[in-house]
Amino acid sequence: MRYVRGVRSVTAFLSSSHGHPAHAAAIRELGGELARRDLTLVYGGAHRGLMGVLADAALAAGGRVIGVIPHALVERELAHRGLTELHIVDTMHQRKAMMYELADAFVVAPGGLGTLEEAFETLTGLQLGYHRKPVVFLDVDGFWSPLEAFLDHAAAARVLKPEDRAAFRTASSAAAALDLLAAW
Ligand code: AMP
Repeated sequence: MRYVRGVRSVTAFLSSSHGHPAHAAAIRELGGELARRDLTLVYGGAHRGLMGVLADAALAAGGRVIGVIPHALVERELAHRGLTELHIVDTMHQRKAMMYELADAFVVAPGGLGTLEEAFETLTGLQLGYHRKPVVFLDVDGFWSPLEAFLDHAAAARVLKPEDRAAFRTASSAAAALDLLAAW
């Protein structure tokens, strides 16, 4: 029996850099928790930074991990060669399309421009009704607080609708994040 009903695969967006030690610890916990709940992890296929930490943790806990990486980044982001499946695609757009397609839900962990770009594409897809897949931001040590404050600012300025602001959900632990996705 699956622990999380309805959600069988989770696409994660996160940094290709290491962050600080608290980030790596939280990401290892996320990898283990995904595997324990029998959830397939889909991610950008790199063996670098927090992306590599997450894939290694999920695999070490017996989980199934699917990576999607463009040709151009195979060297630069060190494609992970020990995954359950590694898909090498032609473009960044194909990478994202495949990561969205394979996901039942999304977790966004600490990251930079690439993570934000991917995360906001999922949120705007939700906003416009292109999909109904839940998104949760893993809030390690208040990492996402400044972004939440900005979104409150945008909502107060009435350029962000309250229901769209409400789609930005955070959880402070891996277990809480996956519980939130299950309860959506
Ligand atoms: P970052 O948060 O900047 O470390 O990026 C995290 C991941 O997002 C990396 O694997 C980047 O290659 C990827 N990325 C950056 N920009 C894009 C994009 N436009 N489309 C798809 N993936 C991207």
